[in-house]
Amino acid sequence: MAPDPYIIAIDGPSASGKSTNARLIARALGCAYVDTGAMYRTLAWYCLRQGVPADDAAAVAATCRDWPARLACVDGHVRLLVEGYFPEKEIRTAEVSALVPRIAAVPQVRDWMKSHQRDCTRFGNLVMEGRDIGTVIFPETPLKFYLDAAAEVRQARREADGVQDNLAERDQRDRQRPVAPLAIAPDAILINNAGQTPQQTSERILSEIRRIRALQPSAS
Ligand code: C5P
Repeated sequence: MAPDPYIIAIDGPSASGKSTNARLIARALGCAYVDTGAMYRTLAWYCLRQGVPADDAAAVAATCRDWPARLACVDGHVRLLVEGYFPEKEIRTAEVSALVPRIAAVPQVRDWMKSHQRDCTRFGNLVMEGRDIGTVIFPETPLKFYLDAAAEVRQARREADGVQDNLAERDQRDRQRPVAPLAIAPDAILINNAGQTPQQTSERILSEIRRIRALQPSAS
């Protein structure tokens, strides 16, 4: 089996089922779960609270350099706490969703996130979901998955959850930014999960993980 800590990277566009599947897989394997979108959302919320305009890249970069955020693992979920507080509800508003791709396009923000996301290995084996985990954050992991479904299917999922979110615009910004855009790693396993239940998708991912890990050289 592959040496520990191992990292399972799950990337994909908005509403592709990353969070649901990442949580199921983390629970099944006893890994810590890292929602990197929540990390970017937390910074967007903090900029909003501090009155920092999302389009002022220099101001966003300066805010990110100095903000009072630290990583913590609570009940198996890794989060960024701001002065000890995780703004769980506040980061899911339509206002934060609209701002976050602008914040996430700032190169200094991506550097800060990369170093903190790589530092998450101190919490043990990880399931980490986002947009650039397999391409930029942990390109060395052999356990890479890219989830996808047609845009209409993903939009319908958000509407069924009663969440207001302009997915098409967010995905376009995430795909087109110059630094760490949403992209499929060449060695990622691509799963189109339209019409699948989370149990079916997560079972498929778990069986691929078992297969790939069995091929890895052992730690000792
Ligand atoms: O995953 P979620 O939809 O919560 O992500 C919110 C936003 O955070 C994305 O639309 C994207 O702009 C940004 N993000 C990113 N890189 C990641 C995770 C999220 O740029 N690894």
